[in-house]
Amino acid sequence: MATKTQLPTSHEINFWDDVCNYFDHAAAYTKHPKDVLEMIKKCNSIYSFQFPIRKGDGFELISAWRVEHSHHKLPTKGGIRYSEMVYEDEVKALAALMTYKCAIVNVPFGGAKGGVKINPKNYTVRELENITRRYTSELIKKNFIGPGIDVPAPDYGTGEREMSWIVDTYQAFNPGQIDSNGCVTGKPLAQHGIAGRREATGRGVFYAARECVNVAEDMKKLKMSTGLQGKRVIVQGLGNVGYYTAKFIQDGGGIIVGLCEYEGAIYDSNGLDVDDVVRHRKETGSILGYKKAKSFKNSGEGLIQDCDIFIPAALENQVTEANIKDIKAKIIVEGANGPTTPEAAEYFLKQGGIIVPDMYANAGGVTVSYFEWLKNLSHVAFGRINKRFEENAARDMVDLIERMTGNSISSEQRHIIVKGASELELVNSGLEETMVKAYHEIRDVQMNNKTIKDLRTAAFVLAIDKVAVSYTNLGIFP
Ligand code: GLU
Repeated sequence: MATKTQLPTSHEINFWDDVCNYFDHAAAYTKHPKDVLEMIKKCNSIYSFQFPIRKGDGFELISAWRVEHSHHKLPTKGGIRYSEMVYEDEVKALAALMTYKCAIVNVPFGGAKGGVKINPKNYTVRELENITRRYTSELIKKNFIGPGIDVPAPDYGTGEREMSWIVDTYQAFNPGQIDSNGCVTGKPLAQHGIAGRREATGRGVFYAARECVNVAEDMKKLKMSTGLQGKRVIVQGLGNVGYYTAKFIQDGGGIIVGLCEYEGAIYDSNGLDVDDVVRHRKETGSILGYKKAKSFKNSGEGLIQDCDIFIPAALENQVTEANIKDIKAKIIVEGANGPTTPEAAEYFLKQGGIIVPDMYANAGGVTVSYFEWLKNLSHVAFGRINKRFEENAARDMVDLIERMTGNSISSEQRHIIVKGASELELVNSGLEETMVKAYHEIRDVQMNNKTIKDLRTAAFVLAIDKVAVSYTNLGIFP
């Protein structure tokens, strides 16, 4: 077990067991038959495979997975993780979280996840391209990818570049397939991606944090003022999720007092300038030594500094029994998937803290992935066609977003979107509506059942209800 400031590796804690335990705990608050619950909980398809890539004079065998957790809605959806530490139960847990995540934000996908057991830093760009293309071709062979089958996206260790290789490989095997651009999301803009996807998860985490601190009743219980203004925030992780989260929080009036990365952590109670820290890191290779900030070589030290909100936005199992007692934050917003262990969460909640759970907090990525997928299937290219057509397309897209997410978009907003509609405005406003609505839906579930003690259980209950309705409506074939 890790000590107070030494963070454990994923393997020390079984993430899949944790997700199943959360599920069982929440399922007890629902009235669904046992067999339906069992059907929801289990992973539908697990594809575990190996493939060789050329390395030097020889070759290297790479382990990889794609797990489709639930087929209650198709396609299934979820990112691909490149990490040396990835293991099958982790991919299963992440795929399950995708199912619940999509249900919570009313994105009509089943959950999936992929994993490739490599440290991308140990490979050249050429080798990474080979790995990505070979991985994709294995998925194609087994029918684990396609715009109506299973749609990957970026996750830890992957980004737009890999998504671009994936769509290119898919198209090579499926010439002329009209909807093939929708086989993967998180693509570069020039490659049929969508504006705002890169920032989407971080922007969503920011909305999640903002909604949480905007509830006066809850802030009163924490003896905190309402609103993000002046709240002191520590963010763990300066990757895609952490960086944009920190930046949007800073722009939204919060003060980023601490940043933690694998090389260490920095803390300044007067606040850090996120972009300046990133610049410093680029120049020196590390966040350490940034201006007047206190530097900690041990990254774990960064988590336990004074703040109001802690946002883990790196990997799972970062907040554990070993460090929870020293964490000063009263609110944890889970930008990463599974960053808090159940034991740590239990302790934190007993102390009166609020945890905004991963499956809601980081749902911004898949929400905008859904917009990208809709854009690909509807073959709309905003900004490249005439105004009138664009207005109609924007109107259709707003209607579609409204229908699919159940969020009503005000007439004033609709006017701005349709008339002025840049793709980015459309995406951001759809994302904001989705995150705001989902937060209050989750909170209402908790408020309407006083025995539900936390937002995670409430979020699971909400998700289970939605997936159960789908499965029940579908019936069983044959
Ligand atoms: N990997 C992201 C997640 O965990 C995004 C998934 C997607 O866009 O499909 O939510």
